Amino acid sequence: MSAPHDQHFLTDPDAIRKIAHFSDIKDQTVLEIGPGKGALTKELLERGAKVIAIEIDPKMIEILGSRFADEIDSGRLNLLNEDAVRCDYPDFDIVIANLPYSASSKITFRLLEHGFKEAVLMYQKEFALRMMALPGTSNCGRLSVMVQTYAKVMPLLNLPPEAFSPPPAVDSMVVRITMKEELTYPVDDPEFYSILVRELFSHRRKTLKKSLKSSRSVIGEKRYERIVSMLPDEMLKKRAEELSLKDFSNISNIATK
Ligand code: SAM
Repeated sequence: MSAPHDQHFLTDPDAIRKIAHFSDIKDQTVLEIGPGKGALTKELLERGAKVIAIEIDPKMIEILGSRFADEIDSGRLNLLNEDAVRCDYPDFDIVIANLPYSASSKITFRLLEHGFKEAVLMYQKEFALRMMALPGTSNCGRLSVMVQTYAKVMPLLNLPPEAFSPPPAVDSMVVRITMKEELTYPVDDPEFYSILVRELFSHRRKTLKKSLKSSRSVIGEKRYERIVSMLPDEMLKKRAEELSLKDFSNISNIATK
């Protein structure tokens, strides 16, 4: 695995302690993605968690290997030198991580697909705010709709650049993501739902009618015809950013009936 560029290590001891205390992790298996030199890993282990850490950079794996030799020997820490964007995820109870910001989106989508009960994740603040943006508001996008369909997101902690070394150019935010046990607006065909949401936000300025027309080859001619024949005119005049979660699931379920 080759080294990525975005390595800003969390150095603020208070922030590290808080992140490790947001969940009850004693005797739980925690998945940590991008442990770096192990600042958070150390705190998680000290709080009694068993940690499985996925780190792409072999140099970091070497540092972690010597820093935590005892914990590795005792089986409390399992280091995986893998790319979290591609590798299979192991079984775990909670995921806690200061994510590499360049791969935040891909890793978040992969975690949602894999499924989990609880995640405490640090993101670039702007990204976290987009994830929490309410459907029907202009900051809402594919990420917001997909995350909020399957999970609840709660802000936990804001962190300034000085909490890291070297300081990044952006503010950061820690959030708690809890997967919904039952969807508020059930989706009959999750694969089609994901395609539909992606397509509608890929032309977010267009009305639903025009947007669906441009996506006919992707969503299929029959499904396109079914949606436009069954949706009321006032709905077809809306743009993706004006739709609610209920609207998205409704449109998807009409298409896949
Ligand atoms: N958690 C550490 C901390 O807070 O000090 C390091 C955070 S640093 C922002 C991100 C870490 O993720 C780096 O160690 C980097 O090598 C690792 N990383 C980047 N991309 C990755 C990927 N695709 N899979 C696994 N680890 C990755």
